[in-house]
Amino acid sequence: MDGISFSIDEGDTLCIVGESGSGKTTTGRSILKLVPITDGEIHYNGIKISSMEEKDFRPLRRELQIIFQDPHASLSPGMTVGKAIEYGMRIHRIVDRSKLKEKTIEVLESVGLEPAEYYYNKYPATLSGGQKQRVAIARAISLNPKFIVADEPVAMLDMSVRSRILKLMIDLKKEKNLTYLFITHDLATAKFICNKILIMYLGKIVESGPSGEIFSNPKHPYTIALMNAIPDMKLVKREKEIPKGEIPNPLNIPNGCRFHTRCKFAMDICSKEEPKLKEVSPGHMVACFLY
Ligand code: SF4
Repeated sequence: MDGISFSIDEGDTLCIVGESGSGKTTTGRSILKLVPITDGEIHYNGIKISSMEEKDFRPLRRELQIIFQDPHASLSPGMTVGKAIEYGMRIHRIVDRSKLKEKTIEVLESVGLEPAEYYYNKYPATLSGGQKQRVAIARAISLNPKFIVADEPVAMLDMSVRSRILKLMIDLKKEKNLTYLFITHDLATAKFICNKILIMYLGKIVESGPSGEIFSNPKHPYTIALMNAIPDMKLVKREKEIPKGEIPNPLNIPNGCRFHTRCKFAMDICSKEEPKLKEVSPGHMVACFLY
């Protein structure tokens, strides 16, 4: 990531959208201090957490949780569902040890894994992908978090299961007053769940704004191309708009606008200067020389 800056208000679901290699996951993990940043600052509730020592940050870890893309890899194969959920609650002393199982059963029920007693003793290998992701969500919410980074949480699930998991996340958000940073490569998923959107390309924010505005009035050629990759959201003929080639190697970033090697609207200036984000309507920012 290079020079990105954004904020998430309490109660928001902000989606970061972009192709693989755009920096979405690194952004999400950096915010939670799971990968170190080389420069810049991260603030949470007015506290600068980026420079905090791990021991000082630990109490905040409970409030800041993550749901990973791969539910198979994010659960330990040797731990039953019950033990996996209780582990975090024990570390953060969420409830008294004698109440751990009761609380775990309650959490399993809240993510729709019922009868909860049945799932409590199951090992991850005996569960479907959707059930494992529900366990991962249960594990995150068992710690009473305030902010959750959801890193492509439905990308590895069957289509039929995706909408149910998204619906569960929307319901839990309302019920527990959560704030989400939702990472996805799929604008259709973003449209379903987000109220704000941030489009990233090769480590830069190229467009951001309220979800309704971005979908009704997309500006950046990359955003338009992503939209045209969704069959029912074609703005113009799809074959004309899909950007040519692949996202460049982040170790060899093009000069000027990073998208110019794939942009059909590229002009002379685009390979020489880097466009800055400009506000084109209230809250709607675009980095492109066309505007
Ligand atoms: Fe295309 Fe130029 Fe806009 Fe970049 S700045 S998206 S190359 S028109």
